[in-house]
Amino acid sequence: MRRWMCLILICLLLAGCTGQKSVRKELFLMDTVMDLQIWGKDAQTAVNRIDALLRQLDSRWSATNPDSALSKANAGAPAWTAEEQALLKRLEELSQRTDGAFNPCLYALIDAWGFYEDAQHVPTQQEIDAALSDGRMDLGGAIKGYAGQQAVELLEELNVDRAILNLGGNIQTYGSKPDGSAWQIGIQNPDGGGNIGVVSVEGTMSVVTSGDYQRYFEQDGKRYHHIFDPETGWPAASGLRSVTVLCRDGLTADVLSTALFVMGLEEGTALWRQSHDFEAVFLLESGEIWATDGVVLSGCDYEVIEREE
Ligand code: ADP
Ligand code: MG
Repeated sequence: MRRWMCLILICLLLAGCTGQKSVRKELFLMDTVMDLQIWGKDAQTAVNRIDALLRQLDSRWSATNPDSALSKANAGAPAWTAEEQALLKRLEELSQRTDGAFNPCLYALIDAWGFYEDAQHVPTQQEIDAALSDGRMDLGGAIKGYAGQQAVELLEELNVDRAILNLGGNIQTYGSKPDGSAWQIGIQNPDGGGNIGVVSVEGTMSVVTSGDYQRYFEQDGKRYHHIFDPETGWPAASGLRSVTVLCRDGLTADVLSTALFVMGLEEGTALWRQSHDFEAVFLLESGEIWATDGVVLSGCDYEVIEREE
């Protein structure tokens, strides 16, 4: 073989190694399946560090583990770090931004509906009312998004090429795909099997879906899901099957996906019109899909929500 041919072959092999190889790990944490896939020289280190980060966050914020910092705070003995206090402050601000549709203090309500013990049932109205005036916290609607955001900071620090993290349905992308094309993320069909459409996102983005199909139970022929309207204490009934939020900030994406699901299309659209940091896709009970005008969506027919009414 001529020397220049040899060189080209080595270059191609190297390009194949550095350009394509990724490190992948699946884990079960925060009561859900997670999948990390990272490309770059320090991908293995990044996977290990993110794995440790997720375990650390779970050990601090689990609502069901009696040893977690959250459980201790719920029992009246808070011992937060400065960083955790900052997260709680941000959650308070985000809750206000959603006019209370996102409420981080629904522990007693979720417990009353039996979601922690896997003993789901419809509570009495008295139990619901009592639970609504209880201040104990549950961050199930926000912590995976926060984890995604913290993971991005690690990926930046380690200077990996790119990554896609599936944190139990919260998708966090980082960097660009090797061929420069956008990441393609499917929005799940609530009735199972496949997607209702695919969103394209560039670079670092958090894509989070909240839906009525992720956790639910049936009683007397009726379905009850796990996203509650903090005003009524009942599963939100705003005419939606799911909401997908796209936002550069993972915590905001997660909070807003839960909140918009509670608010519904009309109120959710009003919040979007006041904001400039997120986009959203609403799947209605009727099967219609509505997407804000910054979303790049394919594989389905949909209505575009414009900035101006
Ligand atoms: P998932 O965690 O299933 O991906 P979400 O991000 O929408 O979906 O979070 C739902 C979880 O958030 C519930 O399981 C519960 O722990 C909590 N939750 C339910 N309703 C609310 C609400 N209105 N505000 C804040 N948290 C909520
Ligand atoms: Mg959420």
